[in-house]
Amino acid sequence: MDSEQVRQYLEFYQDLGFHTLYRRPAAARAAGPDLPGKLKDASLEGQAKACPTETMLQILEDIGDCRRCRLHAGRNKLVFGVGNEHSPLVFVGEGPGADEDAQGIPFVGRAGQLLTQMIEGTARKEGIPLKREDVYICNVVKCRPPENRTPEPDEMEICGQFLARQLLTIAPKAICALGGTAARALTGHKEGVTKMRGRWFEWRTIPLLVTYHPSYLLRPYNQDAKREAWEDLKKILHFVYD
Ligand code: URA
Repeated sequence: MDSEQVRQYLEFYQDLGFHTLYRRPAAARAAGPDLPGKLKDASLEGQAKACPTETMLQILEDIGDCRRCRLHAGRNKLVFGVGNEHSPLVFVGEGPGADEDAQGIPFVGRAGQLLTQMIEGTARKEGIPLKREDVYICNVVKCRPPENRTPEPDEMEICGQFLARQLLTIAPKAICALGGTAARALTGHKEGVTKMRGRWFEWRTIPLLVTYHPSYLLRPYNQDAKREAWEDLKKILHFVYD
C-alpha cells in the first residue's frame, strides 16, 4: 500500500466518524471497576499508561496490502475496524461476511444491524447516552473467510497481531467478545460460548466479557440466548460507563 492509498484508507475510516469519547463520571472512575476477585485488582488506569503508543495509522500502514495469509486471495476490501479509537469499549467479532467485505466496514450486514440495536437499545434503556459510533468495532481476522467459514488457527494468529496492536492502542476499559471464536481467540479458553457467556475474563489485564455472536441471535429459536445477550450488554455497559 503506498502512502496515497493509506491516506485514502484513513480518510475513508475518518469519514465513518471518530467520535467523542464518552468518559465515565469522575466519581465512578475513582471508585474503580466493580469486578469480582482478582480482576478487581487489575490497574486499569495503569494498563492504559503501560500501552505502547502507536497510532491506528501506523497499524494500518503496516497491514498495507496484506498478503500474509491465504484469506487475502478472496477479499474485496480489508475490514480494519470502525468507530471511536479512544473508546473505553471495544467489540470484537469473528471476521467479515459478504456485506463487510464489500464495504470495508465491520458489522454492516444483518448481524451488524442487530449489534447496533443491541448496543443502542440497551444503552437507551439503561440511561446511557451511547451510539454505535461511540464504541470501536473490529474482528479477529480482517479478510472474509471463504463461505464465511471459521478462520483457521494460523489465520487468526497472523491477523491477531494487528488486533492486539489495535487493542493496545485503544486501551479500552473493557472488551466484549462476540461469539465463541472471538472469545477463544482472546482468552485462550477452549469452552463453548454457552459456557463462557456472561463471564468476565481478561485480555492482558483488560476485563473481557463474552456474549453471543449477533448472527447466532438472528436464528428464530434463540429467544433465551437473546435475553441473555441483553443481560450481558447491560453488564458491560454499566461496568464501562457508570
Ligand atoms: N460477523 C463478524 O464476526 N464480523 C463482522 O464484521 C460481520 C459479521
